[in-house]
Amino acid sequence: MTELPVEFSTSTPLDYQGIYPCPICRRGRISAIALMDAFGCDVCHHIFTANLPKQSLRVADTSPPLNWRWNGKKWQPSHRDGVEINPSVWLVAVAFVCLPTTIVSLAAYTFPPLPGSSWQWFSWAWVGLAFLSHLGCVAWLILEYYEVPSLMALRQSSSTQQLPVRQYRLDR
Ligand SMILES: [Zn+2]
Repeated sequence: MTELPVEFSTSTPLDYQGIYPCPICRRGRISAIALMDAFGCDVCHHIFTANLPKQSLRVADTSPPLNWRWNGKKWQPSHRDGVEINPSVWLVAVAFVCLPTTIVSLAAYTFPPLPGSSWQWFSWAWVGLAFLSHLGCVAWLILEYYEVPSLMALRQSSSTQQLPVRQYRLDR
């Protein structure tokens, strides 16, 4: 099996006759599955459904379903239809991180630990933990939204669910 570049040098439209790099594992090649209007990857065995007029691809066996758009040379993550991060969502995200941190630090500031107590560090460590854990939640949601491919690849390597696509592939 020859290596397929992640990016094509010439513009190639997405159709069921072609072979394309896999947008999930980035190592495999996806090609049409016999008798099905779908693509399968020969490495990670994910099954993709294509929308040829829109030149887009969707992997159906992940939650949430992920979409990519083929620009003729490579895959570009496309955001979920109708879902958009607007300024009020950002505001809620900032409040979600700042509010608990402020409350916890106010408590630490108002009721400081007794001088010389061995747990003096704890209240400010708790503030840091509150900040980091809430920031982590927001960061995770943003990563989920923007469908970072490396995150998917990381998930893929730990995934145990594999579908036997290879058996249904056409010989080329
Ligand atoms: Zn793959």
